[in-house]
Amino acid sequence: MSDASQVHISFEFFPPKTDAGREKLVTTRRELQQLKPEYFSVTYGAGGTTRDNTKGIVTQMRSEGFDVAPHLSFGGDDKNSMLALLNEYKNAGINRIVALRGDMPSGVGGALQLVYANELVAFIREHFGEHFYLAVAAYPEIHPEAKSYDDDVHYLKGKLDAGANSAITQYFFNPDAFFYFMDHCQRAGIDKPIYPGIMPITNFKNLSRFSDICGAEIPRWIRKRLESFGDDQESLVNFGIDLISELCETLLDNDAPGLHFYTMNQIEPTRQIVLNLDLA
Ligand code: FAD
Repeated sequence: MSDASQVHISFEFFPPKTDAGREKLVTTRRELQQLKPEYFSVTYGAGGTTRDNTKGIVTQMRSEGFDVAPHLSFGGDDKNSMLALLNEYKNAGINRIVALRGDMPSGVGGALQLVYANELVAFIREHFGEHFYLAVAAYPEIHPEAKSYDDDVHYLKGKLDAGANSAITQYFFNPDAFFYFMDHCQRAGIDKPIYPGIMPITNFKNLSRFSDICGAEIPRWIRKRLESFGDDQESLVNFGIDLISELCETLLDNDAPGLHFYTMNQIEPTRQIVLNLDLA
């Protein structure tokens, strides 16, 4: 296993919509901070209230001293609104961004032209130089809209060549998919760090639905195992902790530079997995 002190861990949140959710996140971030992550990140929903929720949480966390990265995409925003938001982030002391194209918000009906992530990266570099550390998204099992495997790797390289510092992957459960992808990236000339995204398992139905949408495969044997727990939530969570801890161990044993956890705003099971790996 890699030297624990060299392993970069980061924790992702989504912006809560309710006061209760915001309050719970205060405890979650304090508890997860004990595990000494490199940073936290907060997801972004383009447009309106979800956008403002992200800004609210991120600036709040920054004022409490957390190292935090907002996720960001153009969505329907024009260049001036994007500049204004980036300036707000800069002035708030934020120096990391997860730069994305994002997806079409529901109800827009194709009226919106999405801006590819490489263009957002280039835009940020043009206006803010090296102020922000920029991470982009990568897809070991390939983005659902990609024309081909090679195409998707090519566009990942484009984002990194445009000035991104590293990539974080979509979650996956099959380590071989990640290793195969890393080989391809290397052959394509990508030499920046790619951090595997890790999804702890807490709810089979939600995981299954979301995986179908985002193109992450749940291997048949894992699906069958998860199904077999039925309403036995405790057994499902325990199985998930063992499974994901083993996955992380395999990734780190094979030189993954770190782990980015999709915490779903929960302390557990992320904390238990990090403790199992002796990374805290
Ligand atoms: P891009 O890199 O722009 O790629 C989109 C598609 O277009 C791919 O199929 C790619 O092959 C192709 N492509 C890329 N560049 C070009 C180009 N120049 N010309 C032609 N084709 C191109 N979604 C949210 O809404 N909010 C979030 O906070 C969020 N956070 C995420 C964090 C991570 C780590 C990951 C992995 C995903 C996240 N997503 C989030 C999901 C993401 O927004 C979607 O997967 C989206 O569909 C693609 O965004 P991208 O930045 O990867 O797009």
